[in-house]
Amino acid sequence: MVSAEQNDSHHSVKPSITIIGGGLAGCEAAWQAAALGCEVTLYEMKPKRFSPAHNSSSLAELVCSNSFRSDAPDSAVGLLKAEMRRMDSLIMAAANIFRVPAGKALAVDREKFAQHITAQIKGNPLITVVNQEVECLPEDCGNNLSHPVILASGPLTTDTLAESLGSLTGQDQLSFYDAIAPIIDTESLDRSIVYLASRYDDGPGDYLNCPMDKDQYFHFIQAVKDAQKVPLKSFEKPKYFEGCLPIEVMVERGDNTLRFGPMKPVGLPEPRTGRDPYAVIQLRAEDAACSQVNMVGFQTKLTYSEQKRVFRMIPGLEQAEFVRLGSIHRNTFICAPEVINEFLQVKAAPGLFLAGQLTGVEGYVESTAMGILAGRNAAALAMGRSLSAPPPPDTAHGALLRHLTNTVAKRFQPSNVNFGLFPQLTKKIPKRQRGEYRAQQALQSFSNLWDSQEGFT
Ligand SMILES: Cc1cc2nc3c(=O)[nH]c(=O)nc-3n(C[C@H](O)[C@H](O)[C@H](O)COP(=O)(O)OP(=O)(O)OC[C@H]3O[C@@H](n4cnc5c(N)ncnc54)[C@H](O)[C@@H]3O)c2cc1C
Repeated sequence: MVSAEQNDSHHSVKPSITIIGGGLAGCEAAWQAAALGCEVTLYEMKPKRFSPAHNSSSLAELVCSNSFRSDAPDSAVGLLKAEMRRMDSLIMAAANIFRVPAGKALAVDREKFAQHITAQIKGNPLITVVNQEVECLPEDCGNNLSHPVILASGPLTTDTLAESLGSLTGQDQLSFYDAIAPIIDTESLDRSIVYLASRYDDGPGDYLNCPMDKDQYFHFIQAVKDAQKVPLKSFEKPKYFEGCLPIEVMVERGDNTLRFGPMKPVGLPEPRTGRDPYAVIQLRAEDAACSQVNMVGFQTKLTYSEQKRVFRMIPGLEQAEFVRLGSIHRNTFICAPEVINEFLQVKAAPGLFLAGQLTGVEGYVESTAMGILAGRNAAALAMGRSLSAPPPPDTAHGALLRHLTNTVAKRFQPSNVNFGLFPQLTKKIPKRQRGEYRAQQALQSFSNLWDSQEGFT
């Protein structure tokens, strides 16, 4: 077995860390740690070995789209970028240099972008890149606080390394697929149709329910059958958990499968008729204020545009505004609320930090953001400094950390940054101005803490 530690020829008296994975998060973490004066050994298995989705020998490869999504200052992901720029993000700086026209989105020339980052990392005198696969975590990495390790090996982490992480955290805390159901803005529901009820419950109920009659149900089933699906990648051979099947797979098994699964109507009488409908779609609150709801059991690989079209056929969802659409991906990630703390440090192994998509965030920007924080925190630990307060929950970074550490563990699924992860607003703001208001508050809050403690470490 090759472990990072065994091959670390980098002996020095300077504070030092090891990073495994030279993707977006790993490069950003290395850059941030080096900026604080820490030596970094960065292990990247390319070009000796490639994951099924990677194919460039450069570091920081964008495996699919060349877009970092919206750069609009009033969007959650735009805000996250603004905060990252304040922390001198290497990835954001490179994205600005190699930007290509893409409307409000920040998209890049991926080759030049990755080549530039590779040159920056390799040219940094404090960073040593070792092109080698790490097969398992260094044996004492959890306890060695003077030489912390950051694991940033991404959603397609190699099997033996994932196994090694699993033996530290417990294998049941590690997932290899995410199955995400759509999330809807509650204000966009038609409340004259949707009704509150919990199954077999006399009380007011915790779920919002969208009732269907027989015609509506079969019309819907047909639409799911006909809808366009996202083709599976070669490494995504369907190996679904029975309890978490995509709705289109359930429909393939029979016209009534959904009625015996997530669309089961029994015990949910409609207030208008006093009878159970023919089928029901249940919506469950995403936050305490129920400002967003998820479609229970509606994980799917329908394309995004087809999800919007087909799900708006559901009574009560005709005008639904989707905050997030459903998906199912190959994705290695940990059950963050059980495994890590707000410093991205493994609770059971404080010398080990996680960064990137492995932590349970979703997306290029979010993964990079978790690289910034992990890099700064690990460097601070290596330097013998105490870790200072992390970004507060009303900032984009803080909202992501809150999702990772404060979600009910058994319901934890990876998430993009979105305003639903932020604390409830304390005053009423017109919907169209909310993004801008939140962004202003976040940047203020971010700056206050950043200035008062000279950064987040
Ligand atoms: C197929 C696919 C498509 C995606 N498309 C998008 C998209 O379009 N937009 C978006 O926002 N997000 C997308 N994501 C999600 C996610 O944002 C990206 O995967 C992102 O690159 C994650 O960043 P990361 O740094 O955590 O991991 P990565 O960027 O994957 O970096 C991990 C690095 O670790 C290396 N590595 C892995 N195992 C080892 C090992 N054992 N030893 C040494 N090195 C190792 C890998 O070679 C890789 O370079 C996609 C994910 C997948 C799997």
